[in-house]
Amino acid sequence: MNSDEIKIKHIKNDLEFLRQRSEEVDFSKDDVKSYIDLLDKATKKFNLYAISPVQIGLPKRIIFFRNTNENMDKNFDDEYSVGEVMINPIIKEQIGETLFLEGCGSCYPFCSYVKRPYKILVEYYNELGEKKEETIEGFKATVFSHEFDHLNGILHMDVSNDILILDEKETREKRKYNPYQVISKDGKYERTVNIQENFKFNEKVNKMLEEYI
Ligand SMILES: [Zn+2]
Repeated sequence: MNSDEIKIKHIKNDLEFLRQRSEEVDFSKDDVKSYIDLLDKATKKFNLYAISPVQIGLPKRIIFFRNTNENMDKNFDDEYSVGEVMINPIIKEQIGETLFLEGCGSCYPFCSYVKRPYKILVEYYNELGEKKEETIEGFKATVFSHEFDHLNGILHMDVSNDILILDEKETREKRKYNPYQVISKDGKYERTVNIQENFKFNEKVNKMLEEYI
């Protein structure tokens, strides 16, 4: 599949698809290399920090990191990608708290201020099927947490009480004045938003959906 053929699943038409729980990768059956190739192309095509395969119609538990730095300029550099993957990730521990204005290729033009952990201990498999453990810290933890939610059908609007409609330029402008913020570097992280209540989107988002897309 070339880049032109990759389509992004969007809440407007594919909300139910995006809501599913992605399934574990089976290294004996799945063509992991071809999935990674598609994810690499997709992040470049849609100028993303990272992606989960469910967003391009492939509900597998993989997180592909393209840019783990807060600087968004890299998202617009077609040559750039850290190209790191975490397959079948499991969260062991979440510490601290941060705040960032998040966007999502599957939810544009919705953005949300989301509180996420500062530090996450993760167990995962790399592309060769080797088991790894990593403590992810800082902005990369926010990127990971957003993508990990996708694997369970959760979108950033589900875990925020502060949702906005912003185009790309407005998002960049807002982030300039409200950059990634570390609230705390220690203490157990706990979500303060009730996902069950927000899961089908609250009334405010439903109204926005009708009006704007
Ligand atoms: Zn997303």
